[in-house]
Amino acid sequence: MASNAGSGRASLRSERQIPTGRAGSGGPSVRTKSAPPKRPTAGSTVRSSAGSDNADAGRVRVAVRLRPRDAEDFPNDSDFASCVELQPELKRLILRKNNWNSESYKFDEVFTESASQRRVYEVVAKPSVLDGYNGTVMAYGQTGTGKTYTVGRLGKDDPSERGIMVRALEDILASTSSWSDSVAISYLQLYLESLQDLLAPEKTNIPIVEDPKTGEVSLPGAAVVDIRNLDHFVELLQIGEANRHAANTKLNTESSRSHAMLVVHIQRSLKEKEENDTSSVAISDESSSRHIPLLLKSKLLIVDLAGSERIDKSGSEGHMLEEAKFINLSLTSLGKCINALAENSPHIPTRDSKLTRLLRDSFGGTARTSLIITIGPSARHYSETSSTIMFSQRAMKIVNTVKLKEEVDYETLYRKLEYQVDYLTSELDRQQKLNEKVHMEKELKECEATLAEIERNFAVKSENLEKEKSHLELEIKKLKEDLNTEKASKDRMSENIIRLETSVKQNEQQQLENSSYQKVLADTTQMHEQRIVELLKQLEDEQSRSASLEKQLNETKQHLSEAQRLLQMQENIAKDIKKELSRLKEESTSQIKLLQQTNDELLSEKALIYEELKSVQEKVLYEARHRKSLEDEVLKLKKALSENNADLESRGTYGMIRSASSLGGGDAVYMPRPIKTRETISGQRDTISKIFEEVGLSNILALLRSEDLDVQIHAVKVVANLAAEDINQERIVEEGGLDALLLLLETSENTTIHRVTAGAIANLAMNGSNQGLIMNRGGARLLANVASKTDDPQTLRMVAGAIANLCGNEKLHVMLKEDGGIKALLGMVRSGHNDVIAQIARGIANFAKCESRAISQGHRKGRSLLIEENALNWMVANSTTFSASTRRHIELAFCHLAQNEENAREIISTGGIKELVRILQESSREDIRNLAKKALNSNPLFLSGIQ
Ligand code: ADP
Ligand code: MG
Repeated sequence: MASNAGSGRASLRSERQIPTGRAGSGGPSVRTKSAPPKRPTAGSTVRSSAGSDNADAGRVRVAVRLRPRDAEDFPNDSDFASCVELQPELKRLILRKNNWNSESYKFDEVFTESASQRRVYEVVAKPSVLDGYNGTVMAYGQTGTGKTYTVGRLGKDDPSERGIMVRALEDILASTSSWSDSVAISYLQLYLESLQDLLAPEKTNIPIVEDPKTGEVSLPGAAVVDIRNLDHFVELLQIGEANRHAANTKLNTESSRSHAMLVVHIQRSLKEKEENDTSSVAISDESSSRHIPLLLKSKLLIVDLAGSERIDKSGSEGHMLEEAKFINLSLTSLGKCINALAENSPHIPTRDSKLTRLLRDSFGGTARTSLIITIGPSARHYSETSSTIMFSQRAMKIVNTVKLKEEVDYETLYRKLEYQVDYLTSELDRQQKLNEKVHMEKELKECEATLAEIERNFAVKSENLEKEKSHLELEIKKLKEDLNTEKASKDRMSENIIRLETSVKQNEQQQLENSSYQKVLADTTQMHEQRIVELLKQLEDEQSRSASLEKQLNETKQHLSEAQRLLQMQENIAKDIKKELSRLKEESTSQIKLLQQTNDELLSEKALIYEELKSVQEKVLYEARHRKSLEDEVLKLKKALSENNADLESRGTYGMIRSASSLGGGDAVYMPRPIKTRETISGQRDTISKIFEEVGLSNILALLRSEDLDVQIHAVKVVANLAAEDINQERIVEEGGLDALLLLLETSENTTIHRVTAGAIANLAMNGSNQGLIMNRGGARLLANVASKTDDPQTLRMVAGAIANLCGNEKLHVMLKEDGGIKALLGMVRSGHNDVIAQIARGIANFAKCESRAISQGHRKGRSLLIEENALNWMVANSTTFSASTRRHIELAFCHLAQNEENAREIISTGGIKELVRILQESSREDIRNLAKKALNSNPLFLSGIQ
């Protein structure tokens, strides 16, 4: 009997998630993804969210079944090679591409060639069948690998060969009660995106309707046949098979290109739910009144899919290209959905094909889904087998949220409650008599209230159903439109078919005509087949070659990207360099500007300097002229001087050297010289004063630098004489006379110059402040140098006189010694000339006297510097040799040395005590005698030396 699946009994649906019943079955080691996001099920009262423990429970189970070899697998009878190795104990399959290349895959179950139909059913399908869940069992694989054998085999001759469909129905029927439960089926075929009812083959293009609230899919156009028993079911299957065959013959197709689908609707009554408030209804029949009747509704989908091989390979069906696209559409989009689900993609393209719409609940929905993939052993079908395995591996990752769907059976409940109300009413009548009326009335009221509530619920439900109905009507309208479009397409296809049939007929005719050539044709065909095999082999080679080329290409791409990266880096460097260059350029431009500015400044400076130079040149010219006039003047002077010159020279006017006396408390002591009259000297002085006044000191000093030796000599003589006067000394030094004289002493080689210069310095050295200047400007060293170079007694006399004057300044003693002044002074005794010796003696006396004073005043300590320069021996030896004045100087010096205790040892060792005693007795000067006495008395060493 056929009834409409959509016209279900009014019921309030509730869904329960049930933990898995397959906890014991070992899961694959393949990493399973977390449960995909649940689809909203509007309007349902689903108790949602599977816990993570249940995640694996909802996972799509996948088993693989290997078909036994058949004759087709032995093309040459000899070199058959299996590309598949099964390891059922490890639930593992090894797929061999060739001897060195194999892959291993895990499954939930692995069935070898010898696996029985019963085992396959029990492991794969049974769990999905009996527990009241929505279940899907689906076979997937290449044509000829045993999908139909596994799923749809009727096993009429051999019951052990019965497939999943028969066995499932057998179990379902055994587990349901024929009076309270119902089992009904629909059997359909999907081909070229058209759904055909196999139980009512006139129904083609059956629309698929999805409940917008629950998302549940139904086929309102398909026949739903209640199953009475297993035989009835097998009969229906047979009818379906026959219809399928007929349809395929009509459409000129093979069943391998269509999907067959058995839908089993199971509805079971359960008396599970206890009523919450049993006290409110006092029901005599307790067993029937304490439970709310529940309906367990489930749907089992058993699908025998079309062959999974690519259409172009077996494409002998003679379809137009447009149709060929449709043939594979459902399988292709199933693959896409599986991929999307396996990758947890946010969009699942379920709506792309009819198959995926039908299987919406099976993948990513609430059904418990088992997939059995069938493969053949032949290596010839390696790529098909491989792609089948890949499909199954992805499917294994899909996790469904398995739910048990219960519904309250309001119809039954209503009837039951109605009966109860009646019962209670009559009971009330009876109870009234027993004075229990009030109690009963109360109960009745409560019952009525419950009834009203249920009526309300019923009304709401009816209203909902009403809405659903109108919605469905809308859908139907839409579907009708679809149907019309489909019809048009079908018409088109029919035309095509007619065309094709005509063409087939023509072909047949032609074939008859060409029968004589058939044999030749057969041979050619065989040849071509061989050629095809060869070409296939070549193709495989080409494929492997293309793989290696692809690898090379990838490597090259990598190189290329590396090179691009390097290029990018170099470009960056180049950019930096450019930046640096432009910066440098800017810098150099600014520098050039600066340089130009500087250059301009220098040019203007140059012009200025040039002008200055000009003015200087003018000045020089002027100076030259001035000098010339001066020289003329000097010539005049020379002339005047030459008259007096001879006289001046012989009388040594310039030698009017005075000295700081060491005797007589600083009175002037004139150096020994030829006796001259006072008038002569004053005459000379007058002459010099006249020159001095006429020429001017600066001009005279300038002449010291004259290149003319004569002029120089005359000038130095004038200066020497001027220096003899105290009043001139200061001016001479101020105007650079001392420096000029020292320079002459240093640079000149001329003896006269040396002599007169030394005399001039000696005169300047009379003055205490000049002494310091002379010493500081190296005068002592220059004088010592001159003394060492000459034996001229006049020169030596002047030098000795100058040094003797310097000896009178105690502050200069150390410097004098260091500059070799004392050594030079003492060294000049070699001359033996009285005048020289006299100056030496005067110097020694000056020195010893100042030193003695410094020691007595505590400025100085230690042995005398004179003793260090070995003056003592000469003094002791020569104290009586020379003139009286010289002798006095020596004695004086000796007595002063004797005052210092530090000198005592040397004095004693040179026989000085004797000399002291002699001085004490013989000296003409009393002060000297007193000094000798003082020395002898004060020093006990001397006293003991006398005795
Ligand atoms: P398909 O899945 O393509 O429809 P079939 O179920 O038609 O393949 O199987 C192809 C052939 O192989 C059939 O003759 C079938 O009886 C045989 N066959 C398939 N699987 C088995 C099996 N496990 N044991 C024995 N024969 C099998
Ligand atoms: Mg088949």
